Amino acid sequence: MPTPLQPAHRLLRRQLLEHREELAAAAIEHLAHDLPGADVLARATHLVEELLRARFPVTWQQHYPDWIRSDAGRLHATDTPRPDACGICRAAARSSTAPPAAA
Ligand SMILES: [Zn+2]
Repeated sequence: MPTPLQPAHRLLRRQLLEHREELAAAAIEHLAHDLPGADVLARATHLVEELLRARFPVTWQQHYPDWIRSDAGRLHATDTPRPDACGICRAAARSSTAPPAAA
């Protein structure tokens, strides 16, 4: 039976998991839209994953397959926008349907 995590460790784990999600989403969006910085974001994502693996190996093991699946699921080509999964596509869809600004 594993020892329950202390509140500070639980908080750190949650923050790392949230940070990993934000970074991975940004990395995939940048990659999908061929924007500069995709490689930096991918490395940052990997760094957070490695921190999780070092500090919380069981958590890492539980989440890793989902990360692979969700990252692959978010990837798209620019000619097949995914406003449901991509912030850049969402912003583009909003701006193209926005009413013209008042004069
Ligand atoms: Zn997109």
